[in-house]
Amino acid sequence: MPKTVLMVVPVVVCAVFSISFAATRSHVPAEVHLPPGVMTNLNQFNRDHIKANVRFLSLDLLEGRGTGQRGGDLAAEYIATQFLLYDLKPAGDNGTFFQKVPLVGITPAPETTFELVPRKGEALRLKALDDYVAYDQTEQAANDIDADLVYVGYGIDAPEYHWDDYKGADVRGKVLLMLVNEPTSNDPNFFKGRALTYYGRWTYKYEEAARRGAAGAILIHESEMASYPWDVVRNSNSGEKSFLKVDSQQLKAAAWIQLAVARKLAQDSGMDLQKMMEEAQSRNFHPVTLPVKLKAHMASKIRQFSSNNVVAVLPGSDPKLKDEAVMYTAHYDHLGIRPEMPGDNIYNGARDNATGCGILLELARVFAQSPARPRRSIIFASVTAEEQGLLGSEYLGKHLPIPAGKISLDLNFDDIPPLGEPEELEISGAERNGFYPTVESLAEEFRLAIRPDSHPEAGHFYRSDHFSLARVGIPSFSINEGMKYKHHNLEWGMQQAEEFTNKHYHQPSDEYSPSMDFTGDATIARFGFAVGWAAASQPKLIEWQKGDEFEKARLRSQGAAR
Ligand SMILES: [Zn+2]
Repeated sequence: MPKTVLMVVPVVVCAVFSISFAATRSHVPAEVHLPPGVMTNLNQFNRDHIKANVRFLSLDLLEGRGTGQRGGDLAAEYIATQFLLYDLKPAGDNGTFFQKVPLVGITPAPETTFELVPRKGEALRLKALDDYVAYDQTEQAANDIDADLVYVGYGIDAPEYHWDDYKGADVRGKVLLMLVNEPTSNDPNFFKGRALTYYGRWTYKYEEAARRGAAGAILIHESEMASYPWDVVRNSNSGEKSFLKVDSQQLKAAAWIQLAVARKLAQDSGMDLQKMMEEAQSRNFHPVTLPVKLKAHMASKIRQFSSNNVVAVLPGSDPKLKDEAVMYTAHYDHLGIRPEMPGDNIYNGARDNATGCGILLELARVFAQSPARPRRSIIFASVTAEEQGLLGSEYLGKHLPIPAGKISLDLNFDDIPPLGEPEELEISGAERNGFYPTVESLAEEFRLAIRPDSHPEAGHFYRSDHFSLARVGIPSFSINEGMKYKHHNLEWGMQQAEEFTNKHYHQPSDEYSPSMDFTGDATIARFGFAVGWAAASQPKLIEWQKGDEFEKARLRSQGAAR
């Protein structure tokens, strides 16, 4: 089956493609259509190459590709070597493929104490990991906090939705208690209805609190609102956590507390948590200073280190447009080794994200070996520290080889299941930019249905590397398989997804197996190739839809770039 598919599909795609663009897609510029020479490129994608790369990158020898660790560095060297073998141009620091990302690792030390002290009654000494998690982001070895708690509802200031939980309150030096997520609504014009905007993400809440000079921020964890259980908070907030080295204002305590702790805290304040949560739903909400202080001694182990993004470029063929680019990204880092863990303690990260790297490398190879070239340049970036909070891509977004305003599109690949031939695509967020009609047409030509985001409330758009690039204005999205696979019903696909999430996601058992079928990974690579080529060849740069939350960043980047 796969061999014939490889031979037949491109021919079919080619024929149907030109007809449909010419005849039925008059709104799509004619230049979008891929020349026949490019179509033959689709034949070059080889699922066995992807498989070989996934196998290598997820070997135990690679030690889970931990950020700033030997295994991670080996993976980066491997990817850079492939780029070199493909004859791509280095686009990192000083003529190399490496872009050094300065990081700082912060580990909460056992001397840390975290106490909620009510004006009346007994202090509540919280137990690390069970009751709370907290990081001191200031890169100091020790800090003391003795500050009033101020409940700020959702902690959101969103002028475009006429929503401001702060109401001008001076929160400098205070510790802000807040809810995750955003005010509940089904109105698509109000925080995008059920879908999550960036305002709902915990990262935004910490950033906003820091911008306002708060000493700390404590998020109340509630499984449904967060869309993940406490275990996820606990696991991703234990041990060393990495941050980009920054010079802006940071929090002495960036924390989460368990719902039960919040309930007790409200009680001790003579309040009712349920009622507090309801009050936060109102536009008229005002910050409330609670009769409780946070008394904390934040002790941290600080480790300065660095890790590399691996960046290459294929120069475009058009003397004018080659100063502009289309970018492909996939993170290579994973969780490394947990030496204290008994049994298998290597987080191989075969799916997450050796698969994305395998696809990125195959794209780089086919682009580089193509007899024809797209008009714009193509950037290939395998980024680091994704698992640490999209840090490598954040750094890349701030230090791009071509200015953000001149990058038309970023296509990201993260965790592409090796489950055979998909009949669906998941490209949530693609509809937010003006290129979507072309993307839809291409999906049609590839006979791939576009699966709507089944959990818009989970805010997946803000959880992968394309988001770092959207933040600096670049239209961007991730390409993945949907749930329906050839020769299987939809339920099978959903079962596979659920089983992976429950048993293998961010576990040492996310391992390579020779029985994995990379046909779909190759399909995703081909589709990504067609989309990227079309974007790199059309006359105009891609822009966000009017009113999109990233439109402002785009305009800002282009003011500077042009
Ligand atoms: Zn990932």
